Amino acid sequence: MKKCENQEKNKKDCTCDYEPCERKGICCECIAYHRGKGQMPACLK
Ligand code: SF4
Repeated sequence: MKKCENQEKNKKDCTCDYEPCERKGICCECIAYHRGKGQMPACLK
């Protein structure tokens, strides 16, 4: 996965409590992953 320069900043505001997720703070990856499964990311529920 690409390094995201905003990851640490985004993680501070992330409301998802699934801890081992490698996408946490990389919001484009998070949205694409859940959208592909017909789901909403935790922060949009
Ligand atoms: S919503 Fe899904 S992809 Fe996004 S941080 Fe949580 S577990 Fe990871």
